[in-house]
Amino acid sequence: MSESNSVVDAVETEDLDPLHILRAQVDRAVSTLEYLPRGLIDHLRLPRRTVIVTFPVEMEDGSVRSFRGYRVLHNRTQGPGKGGIRFHPEVTLEEVSALAALMTWKCTLVQVPFGGAKGGVVCDAKTLGEAELRHITRRYITELGENIGPHTDIPAPDMYTDERTMAWVYDTYDVLHPGRNNRPVVTGKPLDLGGSLGRREATSRGCLFVVERFLELSPLPGLASVQGAKVVVQGFGQVGSGVAKLFHEAGARIIAVSDSQGAILHEDGLDPGAVAAYKAEHGTVVGLPETRSLTNADLLALECDILVPAAGGQQIRRDNAESVRAKLIAEAANGPLTPAADELLRARGVEVLPDILVNAGGVTVSYFEWVQNTQNEQWDLETVNAKLRRKMNQAVDVVVERWRRLQGEMPTADPRVAALAVAIERLTRITLERGIWP
Ligand code: NAD
Repeated sequence: MSESNSVVDAVETEDLDPLHILRAQVDRAVSTLEYLPRGLIDHLRLPRRTVIVTFPVEMEDGSVRSFRGYRVLHNRTQGPGKGGIRFHPEVTLEEVSALAALMTWKCTLVQVPFGGAKGGVVCDAKTLGEAELRHITRRYITELGENIGPHTDIPAPDMYTDERTMAWVYDTYDVLHPGRNNRPVVTGKPLDLGGSLGRREATSRGCLFVVERFLELSPLPGLASVQGAKVVVQGFGQVGSGVAKLFHEAGARIIAVSDSQGAILHEDGLDPGAVAAYKAEHGTVVGLPETRSLTNADLLALECDILVPAAGGQQIRRDNAESVRAKLIAEAANGPLTPAADELLRARGVEVLPDILVNAGGVTVSYFEWVQNTQNEQWDLETVNAKLRRKMNQAVDVVVERWRRLQGEMPTADPRVAALAVAIERLTRITLERGIWP
């Protein structure tokens, strides 16, 4: 069966609406909580503000094209909204809304004083030139107007956006708001524009810290540490390439990686530096000498200790979850597993560490960048990484503690339900502490 056919079958048998998936995950967590005022969780699910913009851009061939962009601010109870901007042809309002809500739970879990937000522009960044991407970014940010700001909603990079994009976001906002320190309006900026040391690798480093701490507290049969573990990474972008590099440095063997064009395998272990250099030259990891090429479906089915999905959402579903042969899955991407996949993997004893914990290193160092920008300071790398490790360890500790406690009353309890329960309980408490206005 071709990959696209299997996706069609999955769509027929499984509800893949990202908002429905998040609702199901939140419902499971809510069912474990003792006290929640009636109606409050219904409110906490809703976005506070949704902005839809369309704008024209003059393309390099002289034609004019319209683009659609979204920005969803999910919750601001704890502070300004925070969340990435993705440039992708399949961006939808449903997906952006679900990702914004996920950011709320993520910030709450790692105790970063931000709310959730997310943005996206429907475009295929891979086919656009630099000037076109710059024009799209500037028009999108201009159209968003006062909906973003250092104390209202702070964007960051996500799929197919990077430091360069964030520099344009900053520059556009700064041109529109002259005469004040606008650096805290966006994070993930280049270093010389106020970016933080350690931000580029923060999501990947956070993923490593989370897996290390989890295995320390809860070793799995045949998997007690990252050192010596056999690791597979799906997606070799900003997050995936960093995961491969940092897990390799921590003593793991990276046997396979992939990108949108396919996967490569080397059972003795890949050199992530060589893979990155090959990808920089050829635009893909496929074809690296001394590696075997695989399909993306084959990569997910490789026998390994740790599988790190670091590409897009809904990669492991009802139709392919049975083929996964990892002991532990660490969700570096947002939403890579569907609830049906969760259930099938749980039944087979595969442990899954959820996105709101595993990839929270990105927003954590984004918060550090924002703090540095508000003070016009630059912390050294050791300070950033030590603070990041502390935050990640604290989050893993509360999740594992809650997971163990839940296991007594809920045999299907997993780290995802525990993480969401901690976050929902906290945000409920904070919302009630502030008091429902008026
Ligand atoms: P990116 O655009 O840098 O990389 C995405 C990678 O995935 C690319 O290498 C692409 O080729 C690959 N890919 C796309 N489709 C694929 C497929 N079907 N199979 C295999 N590979 C495929 O994006 P990123 O910033 O690395 O983000 C990756 C994921 O991590 C996203 O889900 C994002 O929301 C999440 N995330 C990113 C950050 C961050 O700091 N960048 C923070 C938290 C979460």
